Amino acid sequence: MKLTNNLPVEELPGRVHCYMCTHRVEATVLKQGTARKTRPGQRCPRCSGSLDSGYVLEVYSGGLVTA
Ligand SMILES: [Zn+2]
Repeated sequence: MKLTNNLPVEELPGRVHCYMCTHRVEATVLKQGTARKTRPGQRCPRCSGSLDSGYVLEVYSGGLVTA
């Protein structure tokens, strides 16, 4: 599997599962092709835990919600 590609990275609002407080929180998501990850350096608004390893649940992209 190719781990790097040249697709543009989109920053989109989305929802992330925070492992620290096990809640879904709003966060900025980086989307590159079909890959999604949380933008590094974000903190959970509930528990102030790092969302770097958070699991991306949803991405809000132009009104279209993708899982
Ligand atoms: Zn949290």
